[in-house]
Order: sequence, then structure tokens, then C-alpha cells
Amino acid sequence: MPHHALPLRALADLIGPSRLPNVGTTIFTVMSALAAKHGAVNLGQGFPDFDCDPRLQQHFTDAMAAGHNQYAPMAGVPALRQALSVKHEQLYRHRYDPDTEITVTAGATQAIMASVLALVRPGDEVIVLEPVYDSYVPSIELAGGVPIFVPLDAARGYAPDWERVRAAITPKTRLLMLNFPHNPTGRILRDDDLRALEDIVASTGILLLSDEVYEHIVFDDQPHRSLATSEQLAARTVVISSFGKTFHTTGWKIGYALAPKELTAEVRKVHQFMVFAVNTPGQHAFAAYLEDPAPYFGLRHFYQAKRDRFRLGLARTRFRLLPCEGTYFVLADYSAISDLPEAEFAQKMIVDYGVAVIPVSVFYRQPFENRVVRFCFAKKDETLDEALRRLQRA
Ligand code: PMP
Ligand code: GLN
Repeated sequence: MPHHALPLRALADLIGPSRLPNVGTTIFTVMSALAAKHGAVNLGQGFPDFDCDPRLQQHFTDAMAAGHNQYAPMAGVPALRQALSVKHEQLYRHRYDPDTEITVTAGATQAIMASVLALVRPGDEVIVLEPVYDSYVPSIELAGGVPIFVPLDAARGYAPDWERVRAAITPKTRLLMLNFPHNPTGRILRDDDLRALEDIVASTGILLLSDEVYEHIVFDDQPHRSLATSEQLAARTVVISSFGKTFHTTGWKIGYALAPKELTAEVRKVHQFMVFAVNTPGQHAFAAYLEDPAPYFGLRHFYQAKRDRFRLGLARTRFRLLPCEGTYFVLADYSAISDLPEAEFAQKMIVDYGVAVIPVSVFYRQPFENRVVRFCFAKKDETLDEALRRLQRA
């Protein structure tokens, strides 16, 4: 042992109670590792197994060749913020000022963490809807906030239950975190939902965080209802999105936060000390690529075809499919196949069928068993077909 190393116990004592006692390695990492170990088809972690557009890659290469290799401005490359401002105004009729209201982040994950750390003070309550994306609660806990869990209504297709949200609001409520299209349930917002939300927040001082990373993956000709489409909601909301989902570049880790300038100023205070700025050539690449709207307009059709292919195949098994209105995830009930709890069933699926999925119970704080697992269909058709072939055994 090197003379300066402390014995393990002493180091554990020095570290003391964890800042995040309830957190282990994310389920996405765990299931991807298990899938690799057992040679399973990985329909667990949400990422495409196909490549992004070669034109986008060329923009990245061109940006590096043009010498865009030093720090970007803290808030993001101006051309990218400008392109985002135009895109959002065209799509959602709300103009975000590129200088004061748009911040480019290292993926949506960092935008979420920076926003929560900036806005939530120790002891503040933050309402999240369960099942909840896995980074939200750790972000709240690091800020010293208290997560308040309100379930989506599983019996009504995971619809938000606004009366329960209203009932959860107290004088300590600081923030309500929303995510539609919703991971993992695929639920989208209706017009009624926006009206209900406007009504709920009108008489309160609460802020909103709206994670809209699946904004371009909404099916059956439904619109994406961004919170930015409501002036009343936009005035108190941080809207977050990510190029990773929209352009098949989850590994580039570039996303952004849109918010009124007073909120943006606070978010940037944290952002500048988390990462300072985000990789420069990638930002130039997206600025150039956004000039053509076809790739993001076409995304819903691209994924709807995959959703339908996968659903058709799974309908021939004993899995019972749940509705999927958006995102690249679909839930399926396996109660006709097994009585096992979700985490155990997911392990068994890897070993017995050679297909990896995510147990939905991991998106709940309280032990919750609905016998439902999540499949990711952002995969090549041949990957989906191979998974379906294996699942015929189920
Ligand atoms: N929010 C949700 C709901 C997500 O599903 C994901 C990633 N799958 C993220 C945030 C994180 O996005 P990013 O990879 O851009 O950090
Ligand atoms: N958001 C992706 C999912 O839900 C995974 C992202 C990650 O691995 N952190 O599967």
C-alpha cells in the first residue's frame, strides 16, 4: 500500500454520509452492461443504434477545420442561439432572445441540473410526476430541495392528474418539473392540460421546468404542445431540449435551456461554473444543420414507422402493449407471462429471451410494481426484427 493511502474504512469514515444516499449507478448503464455481457439485443437504454446524418458529421468536421476549436462563448455560439430563436418562434410562436434567453448546455441533463441548482433553495419543495426521469430527483436533492411525488394516472393512460398536482402545492413549493412527451410512458400533453396548468399556477408563485427533449417525436399527427406556446406559462418556465434525441447524436451531449431573461441569468450563473461552455465545433455544426427543417420535421414519421413495426410484432406475443403517443419508448404489460417483480423480470428477459429492457419500477421512488417494462424502438429495423424474433418465445 502506498504510504499516503488511507485504509478503506478510514476513508469511508472521512467521506461520511453520502450527498446522494439513494443513488447507485443509473439503470441505463446497468442494463446496457448486462445486455453486452449476455449478448442481448439492447432495447433498454434510450439511444439509436444507427448513425446520424453524414451531412451533420461533415458540418462538425468543417467547423474543426475552420478553427472553431477554442472555448465557445459561455451562453453558446451566437449563430446557434440565433437559429434556435428562429426555430422556436416559427414552431411555438414564442420568441426567445438569443442574447439573454437561450443557453446552450452539455445535453439536457446538464440543463436540468443547472436549472434546478439555480432555482431551488434548501428546504424548497419541488413537485415531480411519477414515473419520473432518473436525473430529476438527484438534482433536487443536491440543491437541498424536497421532492414531492405526484403519480401520473396509470389507469388513464398515464394522464397528468392536475387536481393531485394542485393539492400537492404548498407555500413551500418552488418548482414543478414536467416532461412531455413523457419518458417512459410516451404520454403527450393535450390542449386541456395546458389550460389546467395555467389555471393552477396563476394564483401561485411557482416556477416551471419543462423537459421537452422528445418535442419532435410525437405521433398520429398530434402537435407537440410546448409550454412556450402559452405566454402565461412561458413567462415562468425553463424549457429544455436536446439535439441528442432529435438528430441521433446522444454522444455529442449538446442541449439547451430557454427561459425569460431573469430566469436565464440565474441558470447561467450555475452553468458557467459547471462547464463554462459547451464544445464549440458541435455548436457550429448544429447552427449550420438547423438551416434545413426537413430532418426535424421528418423525425415523427421516421419513428412512427418504427413504433408501428415494433407494435405489430409485439402484438404476436403475450406482452400487452400500452399506448405510445410520442418518444421512442413503448411500455408493455407482461402480467400474462410472469408474476415476477419488474427488475427480476427484466433480468430474466436478458437471460431467457436475449432482449434487454428497462423495468418501469426504477422511475418510482416508492416500491411500485405494475408488471410493466419499457422497450426503446430507436433501433435499425433489423435490430427490432431480431428482438421480435427472440420475443416470440414469450
Ligand atoms: N430528459 C429526458 C426525459 C430524457 O429521456 C433524457 C435522455 N434520454 C434526457 C433528459 C437527457 O438528455 P441528454 O442526453 O441531452 O442529456
Ligand atoms: N434518457 C435515456 C433513457 O431514458 C438514457 C440516458 C442515459 O443513459 N443517461 O434511456
